[in-house]
Amino acid sequence: MWTDILGHQKQTEQLKQDIKSSLLPHAYLFSGLGGIGKSLIARTFVKALFCEKAPDVCDKCISCIKIEKNSHPDVFWIEPQTNKILIEQIRELQQGMQFHPLEGNYKAAVINEAQCMTESASNSLLKVLEEPPDKTHFILITSADRLILPTIRSRCRQITFSPLNKKNIVSYLVDKTNTSNDEAKQIAELAQGSLATTSIIDKEFMEGVLDRFENLVDKANASDIIALAEAWSKEEERLPLIFDLIATFYRNMLLARVAKNNATFEEKLYLDETKLRKIMGKRSTDDLLKDFFKVAKARDTLFNTTFNKQLLFEDLLFSLTSVCSM
Ligand SMILES: [Zn+2]
Repeated sequence: MWTDILGHQKQTEQLKQDIKSSLLPHAYLFSGLGGIGKSLIARTFVKALFCEKAPDVCDKCISCIKIEKNSHPDVFWIEPQTNKILIEQIRELQQGMQFHPLEGNYKAAVINEAQCMTESASNSLLKVLEEPPDKTHFILITSADRLILPTIRSRCRQITFSPLNKKNIVSYLVDKTNTSNDEAKQIAELAQGSLATTSIIDKEFMEGVLDRFENLVDKANASDIIALAEAWSKEEERLPLIFDLIATFYRNMLLARVAKNNATFEEKLYLDETKLRKIMGKRSTDDLLKDFFKVAKARDTLFNTTFNKQLLFEDLLFSLTSVCSM
């Protein structure tokens, strides 16, 4: 149902309005960060096209039920296969979209992670979008719209979805996942607007990361650095979180320093305030700033190059702890 969607009110109102006005474009491009609800909105929108209560969605009629189960004969779902959407998938879709609708008034296709289309798949889709069959609607979803052919983009009505705000994420976590308000606030702080990211934020893991890091910075030891670098380099989806946590560690110390040590640590984020103050006492504001930028630079290197992850962490950790041993 439309009410199941978290945030994005302006965009969902626009989509409902499009259905009501019957001025539906043949193609939409839903773009925005991963994990913020674009796929759910696409599914809800397709249900709204077919639902008995259109533009509302009842989730009870036969169309809604079939769309939920991916078994509606007039709705096609394209997903990447091992990170690629192949020309064969688009050709098959093209054939399916040619025939008259079997159960509703439309044919609809949802192409998820559309940036994964190969060049030939993109060109094949472009031809379809240049002369779309009557009553067909395509919804392309992407988390990287710059990778979509400009000629495809120009044939779509683009709807951009922003990251969810912290308030939305907190209320979702408290209402739907039984998380305490304090915990939800900390998770929302790290999730960067993505609901999907909240599911990989695990309190025990986060506290473990910070605890080991705090101990290391407090008392540097080469073998501990190497062991920690090895453990962290094996983390895949939680790697960005590790960097965010370390950056938050320095950010909090800087904020407290700027406020002349009188400030409380506002975003505690699993941090141990006593340890933080002890570490802060040994560093000048300049040191803290330099360390903060070292973390940001390492994060940038990690995501924009194929640099060896373990070496990167070793380099960063040695560099961050050297101040302490001086
Ligand atoms: Zn329905």
